[in-house]
Amino acid sequence: MRCPDHLFLQLDQGRRLKERSGYRGRFAPSPTGVLHFGNLQTALLSWLQARRFGGEWLLRIDDLDTPRNRPQSVLRIQSDLRWLGLHWDGQPILQSSRRGIYSSWLSFLRRSGLLFACRCSRRDLAGEPMYPGTCRAIDAGWGWQAQRLPSWRLRVPDHNPYGSGDVVVRRADGFIAYQLATVIDELSFGISDVVRGNDLRDALPAQHSIYAALGQSSPRFWHGPLLCDDDGLKLSKREARAGLDVARSNGDDAAHVIGQLAAGLGLVPLGTRLSTKELLCEVRDGSNLPLDS
Ligand code: GLU
Repeated sequence: MRCPDHLFLQLDQGRRLKERSGYRGRFAPSPTGVLHFGNLQTALLSWLQARRFGGEWLLRIDDLDTPRNRPQSVLRIQSDLRWLGLHWDGQPILQSSRRGIYSSWLSFLRRSGLLFACRCSRRDLAGEPMYPGTCRAIDAGWGWQAQRLPSWRLRVPDHNPYGSGDVVVRRADGFIAYQLATVIDELSFGISDVVRGNDLRDALPAQHSIYAALGQSSPRFWHGPLLCDDDGLKLSKREARAGLDVARSNGDDAAHVIGQLAAGLGLVPLGTRLSTKELLCEVRDGSNLPLDS
């Protein structure tokens, strides 16, 4: 089924933006708290990779999951990035302002017969490495049942090259799933390269499957190291102590923090002070950036 004109235009515009600038990257934090050093390290890597290619770097705020959003985070993310010298191109993109667009894509996918309703609970699927296809062949119904809505899953061909099961594109709580929103956004904003933390590597199969369902090619994906706390656990945005407040209250300036982040990435010796622009000169050919595809 051909996609309606207004959706086709979004894809076409994305394609043109990508062609125009060659490299278009983005940083896409969720506003669930203050950016911690791990997020900042990812932001820095993503910025360096974009700028060394002379490309553009966008800021997208993944604020669809409203119950998890924290007030002030959206502004705080922007002021922290600016303070460090990580300037983005254009206006920040707020996913919450694009809900209508995601819904149009969902309707299109549903009308194309690519989605099915699924009523499996987390408990039903516990221990399954991949969605076992339980609701694929039955009519689970799209409406309310026992005060619950179904989730909507994309039918993904068995034995697909990505090793993906059927992907949830609309959650049972009615929220658009991150996997769908991110794919629509990368396509509409012409993102050529996605640089993010290693924790999101697991999202690759699902995202590749959505690109394939839309007949589009995936951007290039790069994954950088994850910073852990002293116990080896992933940092959380809710722990403000891991953010810039602590650095600033110690009297550290941006040059100190950039030096610290860059040293964590193995780009400069510990104790180096430098600006983002100076760091960019250090990584011109990019061979020292710790990124895996
Ligand atoms: N918003 C997602 C997160 O903060 C990241 C999305 C992405 O980079 O694809 O985990």
